[in-house]
This record gives sequence, C-alpha cells and structure tokens, in this order.
Amino acid sequence: MRILITGGAGFIGSHLCDRLLADGHHVIAMDNLSTGTVDNIAHLAGHERFLFIKHDVTNYIYIEGPLDAVLHLASLPSPVDYLNYPIQTLKVGALGTHKTLGLALAKRARYLLASTSEVYGDPLVHPQSEDYWGNVNPVGPRGVYDESKRFAEALTMAYHRYHGVDTRIARIFNTYGPRMRMDDGRVVPNFICQALRGEPLTVYDSGSRTRAFCYISDLVEGIVRLLHSDEVYPVNLGSQAEITILELAHKVLELTGSRSPIQFVVPSDARTADDPKIRCPDLSKARRVLGWEPKVSLEEGLRHTIEYFRRKLGQ
Ligand code: UDP
Repeated sequence: MRILITGGAGFIGSHLCDRLLADGHHVIAMDNLSTGTVDNIAHLAGHERFLFIKHDVTNYIYIEGPLDAVLHLASLPSPVDYLNYPIQTLKVGALGTHKTLGLALAKRARYLLASTSEVYGDPLVHPQSEDYWGNVNPVGPRGVYDESKRFAEALTMAYHRYHGVDTRIARIFNTYGPRMRMDDGRVVPNFICQALRGEPLTVYDSGSRTRAFCYISDLVEGIVRLLHSDEVYPVNLGSQAEITILELAHKVLELTGSRSPIQFVVPSDARTADDPKIRCPDLSKARRVLGWEPKVSLEEGLRHTIEYFRRKLGQ
C-alpha cells in the first residue's frame, strides 16, 4: 500500500511510519513540525519507500500519484499544547480532517481518523464503551481538543455515508513511550524527567484522578489491525490497567531509583478545568473485532521510556 500519515513526525505518527515500512508499505509522512520533530524520523532519511513532506494539513494537500490509505494523526494532543494553541487545535481537528478526507475521497483511499478518549469528556460511565456519548464541556478550555475530535468523527462518518469513503475511527486513550516530547507537559514525560533530574514530581491536586496508560507498541498494533479490519464505527484503543496519578508517581520513583520528593501542586485553573476524574476504556469491542488487547505491562513500558529519556538527558 502507499500510505499517507499526517502527524508523521509526531510521537505516535513516527512509530506508525516505522511499523508500516517494516510491513513493506510505502509511507509518506506529512507534518508541519509544530509539535512533531524530524528527530523522530531522522533514521528513515534515505529509506527508498519513505518520503517526508513538511506541510500544514489545514491547507489544501497535494500528493502526486495514487494513495491506498490516509491516516490522519496530525493533532495537538497534549493538554499543555492545546491550551497554548487552542485555535490551531480546532483547525487541525476540523479543517485538517476535512482536507484529509477530501484527499482520501479523491484518491479512493481508505481513511483512518485518530480520535480520542477525550470525546467522552469527564465521563459519567465507567469504563467507557464506544456507545457512550460522553460528557464534554464545549466552552471549557479542554473543549478545543474534545470538540475538534468530536467534529472530526462526525465529518468522517458524513464522508462515509455521503461519499462512501471507507473510513475507520480509533479512539485512542492515554499512550506513552519513547519519542514523547520531554516538554510536552503530559504526566509520563513530566514525572520521568523530573525523577531523572532529581526535581520534585508535580502531582496535581491530590493525585486521585485515574488514567490507564498504554505502551506505544501495543497502540500501533491496534491501529494497524483497525486499518486492515472492516469496522467503520469507533473502536477504543488503550490499556485497562487503571491507576491513580499518585500511584504512577510512586511507580516512576521506584523504577528510576530517584530520590525526588512528590510535590502536590494546584495548577492553573485552565490546566485542570474539566480534567477527567477517571478514565479507562472498555475494550470488549477491540477484543471482538480486532482480536486485540495490550500486552506490555506498565512496568516494562515505563522501563523502555525511562531508558529513552535517560539518553535524551545525556545520562
Ligand atoms: N498530571 C499531574 N502532574 C503533571 C501532569 C499531569 O498530576 O505534571 C495529571 C493531570 O492533571 C491529569 C493526569 O495527570 O489528571 C493525566 O494528564 P496528561 O496531561 O498526561 O493527559 P490527559 O489524560 O489529561 O489528557
């Protein structure tokens, strides 16, 4: 297949490039490098089946030749990023999805949207299954991300129903691993880098919120299976190993051997407004339609990620 990956220089996008090249496909990575970096794909330079195009997908996309699949991963998924760039976040979710769907239609390519557990907002149902419609505050600070992805899902389904585009929707839950940005502000890179630098681990409020963290290789496997499946409606991809943020802080301290203290901080209102209190995917559908579930334990995944950040910090 000849596959376009938007956000191809980002954390998840670059791992997908690796995987799809390893599977024998031709891969075009597109990225405007606003939060992605060429460091993530530098090892692919010169690969005969790989091409990188620097482009902002909110503008018209021109690709020469045929395409078999378009994977739209371009986004600003870190709360810190989408709070800093709210309008770009809305644009890439709305206009970027429109442009990439238009491209898929023109090329008669299969389309996969990287959606998010944030479509469930601060959920009133636990764990979250795909038929839950969510609890999102459209006018809160997180609304820019959540609503852009909800719009993106609606637009994807409209292109499917009206234009017959062959579409897939992955609802991606918290994912971590090598190639996350050190300063991306999400909890895993924050805690690991703080621990490795001997700085306090910043646990927001009491650390009682929960998340379940999926390791990148598991997520990539789930996305690839979804791409090759015939499931049009959304599928949750994530881990079910739910823990509190305070437990995560202790786990990072244990695995790094760091003597950093834990510091309970009250961040800005915007950072934690509508911050989901609990989150964990129901994976029944992913098991049923993809035969998929994550395999890498939190401990193993964190060890790989700690190793990566140690190298980045020159330790
Ligand atoms: N969090 C924290 N300390 C940090 C960064 C995040 O306690 O330094 C909390 C945050 O309030 C949230 C959880 O960790 O409840 C996960 O945050 P993250 O930004 O990683 O992703 P989210 O799941 O909110 O999109």
